Amino acid sequence: MDAARPGLAPGSTIGILGGGQLGRMIALAAAGLGYRCHVYCPERDPPAAEIAARATCAGYDDAHALDAFAASVDVATLEFESVPAAAVERIARTAPVRPGARALELAQDRVREKTFLNAIGVATTRFAAIDAAGDLDRAMAEIGAPAILKTARLGYDGKGQRTVGAASQAEAAWRALGGGPAILEAQVDFEREISVVLARGLDGATALFDTVENRHENGILRTARVPAPVPGEVDAAARDAALGIARALDYVGVLAVEFFVARDGAVLANEFAPRVHNSGHWTLDACAASQFEQAVRAVCGLPLADPARHLDAETTNLLGAEIEDWPRLLAEPDARLHLYGKGEARAGRKMGHVTRLSPRGG
Ligand code: AMP
Repeated sequence: MDAARPGLAPGSTIGILGGGQLGRMIALAAAGLGYRCHVYCPERDPPAAEIAARATCAGYDDAHALDAFAASVDVATLEFESVPAAAVERIARTAPVRPGARALELAQDRVREKTFLNAIGVATTRFAAIDAAGDLDRAMAEIGAPAILKTARLGYDGKGQRTVGAASQAEAAWRALGGGPAILEAQVDFEREISVVLARGLDGATALFDTVENRHENGILRTARVPAPVPGEVDAAARDAALGIARALDYVGVLAVEFFVARDGAVLANEFAPRVHNSGHWTLDACAASQFEQAVRAVCGLPLADPARHLDAETTNLLGAEIEDWPRLLAEPDARLHLYGKGEARAGRKMGHVTRLSPRGG
């Protein structure tokens, strides 16, 4: 970093679009470095607002509230990827938003996302865009069964997708998803799922955390463990792909990229998230600076921290009523419990996580 331009000084205000647990953990890290946060989201009493100096409860289409928010912050970032790009563009007229609207727009649309990935040389599973019922036959013929049909936009945690075992099932699956723009993907016969979480600074410097192995249940991340048990060439392919995405977008902030490791060894990107990520929570306890601190450093234009991992770690998400186990988890000697302060423990809701630590290579 240029010492003459030292980035935003502590005491400055970071705006956070979205009010969930990711925003809460960004705000905690920001507070640790002396920054103030202003959380903006449409929900009342969001988990992030408890930690932030200020919160605005307004819609992402409320121009007046967006302008007031933009005027109150020195820089803005996002913790939720369904924030409309138009809201980000509006804020960006007044305050820098890192990462910007382009990364967000690509991440919001699975067809554009995979088209972009392939265009920059990052491999994905084969896919076809579906805009109308008439596209299904051609797409099924091209992709083959089994395939996975997903809504092009606004899918998360496995919501908005259906497995299609035969061409005859495609139309019913598409109608069940609402009959809107969709993507048909070849189902990957994967050995495991991995992700790379990295930070890229304002000066283009990058810092990659160690590659993580992720296990999903019903489309929701259950566990994330490091180190991921993958050969060096698989690790290198994933890291190169993640770096390529960050460079192509001139990205500033924390970026997470999820991959399938196919049984034939191919490393295929599934999607990227333009924000801190559930598969990076272990960094809170196994690294000198977490993904949340890296996000604060990156968006404030500060030098990035060393991403070295000091411990082996496995994070388990606590969903719904699993949080009731907190006294036992708190008593586990090598576990670190993180709770998100959410009220109602609805089934499947991410209420907290626990990271179990062990010596490196132990
Ligand atoms: P996504 O919403 O794209 O993150 O998908 C959620 C989960 O569904 C992934 O983590 C995989 O476990 C599974 N999945 C999604 N797409 C595919 C695919 N093309 N092939 C095999 N499994 C998939």
